[in-house]
Amino acid sequence: MELFNVYPLNDITPVRALGAQLWDDKGQQYLDFYGGHAVISIGHSHPHYVQRLTEQVQKIGFYSNSVHIPIQRELAQKLGEVAGYPDYTLFLCNSGAEANENALKLASFHTGKSHVIAFKGSFHGRTSGAVAATDNPKIVAPFNANHSISFLPYDLEEVERLIQEKPTCAVIIEPIQGVGGIIMPSDEFLQGLDELCRANGVVLIADEVQCGYGRSGKFFAHQHAGIKPGIISVAKGMGNGFPIGGILISPEFKASYGLLGTTFGGNHLACAAAVAVLEVIEQENLLEHASQMGEYLKQELLANGDAQEVRGRGLMVGLKYDFPIKNVRDQLLTEHHIFVGNASDPTVLRLLPPLNIKKEEIDQFLQALYTLVAAEAEAKTA
Ligand code: PMP
Repeated sequence: MELFNVYPLNDITPVRALGAQLWDDKGQQYLDFYGGHAVISIGHSHPHYVQRLTEQVQKIGFYSNSVHIPIQRELAQKLGEVAGYPDYTLFLCNSGAEANENALKLASFHTGKSHVIAFKGSFHGRTSGAVAATDNPKIVAPFNANHSISFLPYDLEEVERLIQEKPTCAVIIEPIQGVGGIIMPSDEFLQGLDELCRANGVVLIADEVQCGYGRSGKFFAHQHAGIKPGIISVAKGMGNGFPIGGILISPEFKASYGLLGTTFGGNHLACAAAVAVLEVIEQENLLEHASQMGEYLKQELLANGDAQEVRGRGLMVGLKYDFPIKNVRDQLLTEHHIFVGNASDPTVLRLLPPLNIKKEEIDQFLQALYTLVAAEAEAKTA
């Protein structure tokens, strides 16, 4: 059987990785400034992570949610502590889209309403329910889950008008848009949204699948605005490559048997990976490190002045140029052996290095970037 061919692939076969470094089957070394869509949080094959997973699989790797799985409680406890949400509860699933689907479903059950407000350019997943909340015409199929969703600009008056007009269960927002091109609603907008939702009995869902888990320099990106959403969805960096997702749920939501469910969610191995990630974040003080390295990267990029805009927070950085970045991105990979990301805006380069990236690795990336952008500018004027 062949694979269903939906991914355009770079002709690279990584066989080994450590920290922010990868090696392919020909022995070529690469610097990873992308982490496979923001998944690599604590660095590839971190020794503590490898040890935790190995020890777990030697004991038990999986059993379904029909028995006690104490490592789920350990994870919930630790996440509550590290993220600053000790009073929330945790539902575990396997991916970002699944987390958002469960968040939307829970909001709808809780309020008895069905309309959802999302924002222009947002990305919340590719399964039918989550994709309904994704503003990307390329991935929305004619078949859509049975929600009514509106995509609005970051405009509080429009949000308020629509909440009054339609029976709205949830507002879902990425506190920093990832796929959309590292777009940030202002802190004031997030605060206003939080207030509007509270005043109108609407659930505010923060999609922290990409911007959460320390990426912005705080555990969650919405914490920069000092708000407390009703539901927070997580995945990607949570397992550092092991598939796991979840939603953090405010105490006002009541659980009941059968309300949500999944076969694989919260299995022993996934939880061991997620606990290891939190332990490393804590032990290595990675929030502080991400914040400092992010600031260094941003200041260097601003001082260089090639990019029209340097967007984002911490180690979630978007560089907007006045030309399509495809060539620069391709050459970073083929000539300088550095992985970076793109966005739905073809003029934006997306940087998502591991949270423990070293200053020398940032310098290596900057040198390569400056050379390529200068060559691109020269070619344009020639
Ligand atoms: N939400 C956001 C903000 C994302 O960036 C993504 C993935 N790019 C998703 C949800 C979907 O996550 P997954 O691919 O794990 O389903």
